[in-house]
Formats: sequence, structure tokens, C-alpha cells
Amino acid sequence: MLTKLDHFLFSADPKLRRLLGYWAGTGSIYLIAFATLWFHADKSIGLSRHTDALYGMALGGVLLSFVLVRVSQAMRIAPWQLAVFQALFAMVCIVGAYGVSGAPRGAVLMIMLVVMVFCTFSLRPRATMFLCATAIGLLAAAMLWLVNYDPVQFPPAVEGMHFGLAAACLLAVTLLTGEMSKLRTSLKQQKQELLTALAKIRTLATIDELTCLANRRYMNEVLTNEERRDSSTGAPMCIALLDIDFFKNVNDQFGHDSGDQVLRTFAAAARAELRVGDVLARWGGEEFLLMLPGTEVGEALFVLKRMADRVRAIRIPGLDMERDVTFSAGLVERRGTEPFADTISRADKAMYKAKASGRNRVETD
Ligand code: GH3
Ligand code: MG
Ligand code: MG
Repeated sequence: MLTKLDHFLFSADPKLRRLLGYWAGTGSIYLIAFATLWFHADKSIGLSRHTDALYGMALGGVLLSFVLVRVSQAMRIAPWQLAVFQALFAMVCIVGAYGVSGAPRGAVLMIMLVVMVFCTFSLRPRATMFLCATAIGLLAAAMLWLVNYDPVQFPPAVEGMHFGLAAACLLAVTLLTGEMSKLRTSLKQQKQELLTALAKIRTLATIDELTCLANRRYMNEVLTNEERRDSSTGAPMCIALLDIDFFKNVNDQFGHDSGDQVLRTFAAAARAELRVGDVLARWGGEEFLLMLPGTEVGEALFVLKRMADRVRAIRIPGLDMERDVTFSAGLVERRGTEPFADTISRADKAMYKAKASGRNRVETD
């Protein structure tokens, strides 16, 4: 029940709650300022008869601000629009409070600075500059009017000093917060660049650039993880080492770039035969490591045969190769929780057996 009320009033969205937090901060300043005015109101000055109207206006404005912030997401009111509204309203209130505060009115002007600092969270430097100019203009107009209206209560010399200091401080705060805002923007941009670089490094660390298959480093990680979580589930697993036959001839005959093209096409063809969970990695040069989890040798032989058929069908436009692309493979089943280094070593021996017995075949141990 309480949570429901909390969400109704303050929303469940963290961003909106943060904005409402700012609103609460602003509301507290209004409260403190007007409580001070209440206790020290100087009834002797003519304008003090308007103090009650000022309290009413401020309370209405603060409540309206709450409603506007609360519905801002639903009504698509941008944070900068909220900030401009709240800042302009606060400025009018401050000028009003200045008029009714009597002798200590200079202190009221400090609140102007807080308004400017608040704005830099949601406004661009140019908009803050505009608000600063508005504040200075408003103060100038109000003080001129006050000096004219009641030169005894508002002596020109005092008003001039108030105006000069307030305008200088407002400008200084605006310029400083503008610099801060620039810093924030550049930090944001740097963070974005770092995230992009990190994503790129992650890709580079796991993917082989030429074939877009997993690279050796990533495959080693997969194998290590597999070894780590091994309490042997009893499920079979096959490992195969594949090596393209007579690949050096392709390079010698057509050049390295064509060799690269064959490697890329081989990778795409081999990958097309993978099932979910299978991992094929470029182990080095024209050698590939295949991991087939949950697969027995018999089934793995079928996978490799389908792969061989697909690879043999490779045709590359402009490359008139004298023999089909084929590979020799050594296929072994992992023995229980045997270290993968041993499994791969057995696959390597089986692969050399395949080479020795004429290539374009799969041998097991
Ligand atoms: P075998 O049937 O005994 O495997 O003969 P092979 O010619 O395939 O084997 P060998 O080990 O003699 O030659 C492998 C060649 O692969 C040598 C090397 O230049 C080439 N190679 C390795 N990596 C790349 C690569 O990234 N791009 C290209 N184009 N060639 C590569
Ligand atoms: Mg080879
Ligand atoms: Mg080789």
C-alpha cells in the first residue's frame, strides 16, 4: 500500500525519482527562505502588504513544479524545459522577496546563484547564459522600479551596490558552471569512446580477424572453462583438428590474397555445418580446432563428412584451382576428465595419420 502510494507520488523510475529529489531540494530552499521572511518580515515597508500574495504564488509554483516533473515523462516535457520554467519562476519569486524583505534584502540575492547552479545540471551553457542575462535584466528592472517607487526605503546607492555585486556573481557562476558543463560533455564523450574501444578489444580478443571464427585464445578459454566445471557429466565430447590439404600450393600458385580468400570461404563453409554448442576455432595458419560437445565419435564422423562435402564444393570466382579444397582431420573422443592438452595431442597424431594415408580423410585414434 505504502509502496503503491510512493510509486504514485514519486514514480518507480530512478531518473524521475532523481528529478523529484532535485525538486525536493528546491522546495526546501523555498521553505527556508520564506520561513525566514515570515519571522523577520518588516511591516514598516509599503510593499510588505504583498507578502501573503507572494507566499501563495510561491506555494502554487512549487506544487505546479512537482506536478510538471511528475508528469514530465508521460507528457514528454524535456528536463531542460522543466529547468527553464523552474528557474524563471524562482527568479520572479526572488525579486518579489527582495521587494518585501526590507533591510536584509541583499541576502535574498544569494538564492539567485543557487538557481543558476541547479540549471547547469540540465541546461547547455548557452541556455544558462540566457537565464543569467534574464536574471540580471529582471534585477535591473526591479531595482530601478523600487528606487523610483520608494527612494527612502530603496536608496539608489544601496540598490546600485546590490545590483553590481549580484550581476558580477551571477556572471561568474554562469561562466564557471559553463566550464563545468563543457567538462561534463567531454567526459561523457570520452566514456562513450572508451566503451566503443572496449567492445572492439573484446571482439579482437575472441574473434579471428581473417576468418571471423573464434580465435585460439578464445578456444583455450572455452576449454579451460570446460575443464574447470568438469565433474564429468558423463556426456561424450569430441575434439577434431582439421588441416587444409596442400594449402601452400594455393598461395604459391595464386598469391597470398587468394590464399586468404580460400581460408575465409573454408571457414564459412565449415561453420555452416556447426550445430548449437559446437565451437570451431582457427587454431593457427590453415589449421582448425573443432569442439563437439555431447557428441560421440560416430556422430562426429557424420558432421565431419558433411563438412568435407561442403568444403569440397567450394568454388571461388577467378580462382581456377587444379584440385578441390579438402582437409585432413584427426578426430578423438575425450576420455572422462582428461586434460584437453592430451585430447588435442591425440587429435594431432590422428590428423598426421590422415595426412600420411593420403589426405582428404578423417582418422580417429
Ligand atoms: P599439407 O597438406 O601437408 O597440410 O600441406 P600444406 O601446404 O597445406 O601445408 P604447409 O604446412 O606446407 O603449408 C601451410 C601454408 O599455409 C604455409 C603458410 O604460408 C600458409 N598460411 C598460413 N597462414 C596463412 C594465412 O593466414 N593466409 C595465407 N594466405 N596463407 C597462410
Ligand atoms: Mg595444410
Ligand atoms: Mg598445417
